[in-house]
Amino acid sequence: MNTDSMNNENVDAAEIEKFSALASRWWDTESEFKTLHDINPLRVDYIELQCGGLKHKKVLDIGCGGGILAEAMAARGAEVTGIDMAEMSLDVARMHLHESGLSVEYQKITAEQFSAENPGLFDVVCCLEMLEHVPDPASIIQAAAQALKPDGTLVLSTLNRNPKSFLLAIVGAEYIMKMLPKGTHEYQKFLKPSELAQAARAAMLEVTDISGMSYSPLSRNYSLGRDIDVNYLMTCRPQ
Ligand code: SAH
Repeated sequence: MNTDSMNNENVDAAEIEKFSALASRWWDTESEFKTLHDINPLRVDYIELQCGGLKHKKVLDIGCGGGILAEAMAARGAEVTGIDMAEMSLDVARMHLHESGLSVEYQKITAEQFSAENPGLFDVVCCLEMLEHVPDPASIIQAAAQALKPDGTLVLSTLNRNPKSFLLAIVGAEYIMKMLPKGTHEYQKFLKPSELAQAARAAMLEVTDISGMSYSPLSRNYSLGRDIDVNYLMTCRPQ
């Protein structure tokens, strides 16, 4: 049992506090969230490719934070619902809609509860850079599967667990390059693609794509490719 969990929900209270403390900086592109801003166009392109276009699609964004991804999908014509357990981040996300003029529905609710209340409604469910912050990632994947339409698309992303990802995502990003605050990530919570695939299969999903997202410190560019050693995206569909 996770002693940090909130009311037996699949939520790590310390993680929510960590993100709440940073909430005012979600839209500052030079802040702790710089990396998420930098990779955003790339991952929205990936989601569009995998789901055959976002226009008029019903999308659920699990762990939406301040809405960086949710707004970018809304800007491409999707009807987006964003859920998160950090109220302060959702407040920032709602405020930002006034600036962007976009429309996204934000709710503070767990993925498990939301999906139980809204089963089979979504063309696309995404859960990016969040699974490595929850006590039970398989339960989130189960909930995501429940929210999907039978012909829907689930897109996940997280950090792989191996010596290279430890060196790049923790030592490199947090201690050397200082791209992320120290303590942002816990190595033990990183997830191997095989572990996500197993959780996907248990949720009656099949894995249809795995792509790597790599950062080149020299060019300071991110690109999609075959190297899934550190950050990777995975697409799953109902079997
Ligand atoms: N998905 C966004 C934000 C990633 S940061 C993006 O990629 O841009 C991780 C987010 O997950 C934070 O907003 C944090 O509050 C949220 N989170 C962590 N645990 C959660 C949980 N159990 N349920 C819902 N959201 C959670």
